[in-house]
Amino acid sequence: MLLTPRPQTPEASSHGSRPAVPSRFRLRLRGPRRLKATALLASAVSVCLLAAGAPATPVGVGDRLFPYLGNPGYDVQSYDLSFTYPGSNSKPLQAVTTINAVTTAALDHFNLDFAHGKVESVRVDGEPATFTSAGEDLVVTPDKVLPAGSWTRITVRHTSDPVPAKGQDGGWVQTSDGLAMANQADAAHLVFPCNDHPSDKALFTFRITAPDGYTAVANGLPADRERAGKSTTWTYRTRHPMATELAQVSIGRSSVLHRTGPHGLPVRDVVRTEDRKELEPWLAKTPGQIAWMESKVGRYPFETYGILMADASTGFELETQTLSLFEKELFAGNTYPAWYVDSIMVHELSHQWFGDSVSPRAWSDLWLNEGHATWYEALYAEEKAGKPMEKRMKAAYSASDGWRAAGGPPAAPKGPEPGQKISIFRPNVYDGAALALYALRQEIGRPAFEQLERSWVSLHRDGTANTADYERLASQISGRDLSGFFKAWLYAEKTPPMPGHPDWKPTAPDAKHGKNAKPSKNTKAARTGKAAKTAKAGK
Ligand SMILES: [Zn+2]
Repeated sequence: MLLTPRPQTPEASSHGSRPAVPSRFRLRLRGPRRLKATALLASAVSVCLLAAGAPATPVGVGDRLFPYLGNPGYDVQSYDLSFTYPGSNSKPLQAVTTINAVTTAALDHFNLDFAHGKVESVRVDGEPATFTSAGEDLVVTPDKVLPAGSWTRITVRHTSDPVPAKGQDGGWVQTSDGLAMANQADAAHLVFPCNDHPSDKALFTFRITAPDGYTAVANGLPADRERAGKSTTWTYRTRHPMATELAQVSIGRSSVLHRTGPHGLPVRDVVRTEDRKELEPWLAKTPGQIAWMESKVGRYPFETYGILMADASTGFELETQTLSLFEKELFAGNTYPAWYVDSIMVHELSHQWFGDSVSPRAWSDLWLNEGHATWYEALYAEEKAGKPMEKRMKAAYSASDGWRAAGGPPAAPKGPEPGQKISIFRPNVYDGAALALYALRQEIGRPAFEQLERSWVSLHRDGTANTADYERLASQISGRDLSGFFKAWLYAEKTPPMPGHPDWKPTAPDAKHGKNAKPSKNTKAARTGKAAKTAKAGK
């Protein structure tokens, strides 16, 4: 994800300089968070054999930042999601979610994450099961205990509501001509029942039925298209496992534009039909950007890529797997210099390697996604537009102590704070984490750093990995014990000295930095955020 920077003043945009971080970042406004007691972690292990009649409780997989996300006791292998769009954003979609999973414990009941929509029925292995809600979980009790290590099929008939509940944000995004999806970090379960944690990746099939005049596109490649009456069902399948947070479904009055990337890679972009001419010069850049990324880290990891241009004020861009979501507004007019928009395109593209193919094992590993995406965003700007990395990193160094004070160190970020309407996407995991990668390159040298990056995405392709895995690989490749280095750069309250730049000095965190962590009523950001919630209801 990248929060779209909004220029605060006409002066800032007219100069065409890169909008600074973090003060001009538009903060993503979110509803009040559910309170999450850490005590819940204890219940995560008690999934099996709940005493009969005991109250259903929400559980999680022990994520430090989102303790209620995910569920223990099973490993999802595949999702089959069917959505029927009624041709209006104000009515719920009818949906069927089928989950094939392998149990990892004997289960007399289990939880799915699902918090927005009406559940009509649940079947487990073809038999009706009882179900109830607990917090943001759907607790399912099958008619008999599922033995450990067995395949099970869970079918949930439900609605999927594109109208956000009060205080809930994320999931379906209403566009001017239909819907798109933005589930990062914890919102896939506002759309469909799932094991909503990146540590449980699975294959996906999407079947989307929409009335005539709409085009549906989802992650992966098209598998089927069937017309019946006045509607069409579009089927898409992923060839690689995917985290729920990266699911994408676009329904709109769209055109799908095809082109070819490196090695014949199919590239397809999804745009409102009326915007295709205006956006074509931007879309034409993708194959070259993929080739550039491949020259840095190796082969593109998936079966296809492309850009989904949503006509909606999301306030962010999102690396949904094989089909990155962009707000069209980023490309319209002259708000941002072209080189900067290019670098944002590369930011989302690089996430296909860093964050999508290699997923974070826990949300505290988010810096592995955003630090790397920021790194390649900055490297592209340096190589293609002459914007020196060193200058950007020197500025980041100066701000880093403030970012750590506001958001925590890169690999131990602070959680989303209830009532503050701010998520975990703070500068500490963007330029603050890219700064740690810069320090690493300074420390171990370019050749070792570049080998590390290539090895990382190849070793963990289609998997999940955490900060300790990265540290281990870096030590192995450089032939040095880097544990002290990483402890200081990723976990310390203060930014350590920059190798090779003893003159770089951090600015002490002050009131200004504290203020940056909260949305201000007076910023354009806050105003636009409010507008995004109230407008764009579409039909
Ligand atoms: Zn990002």
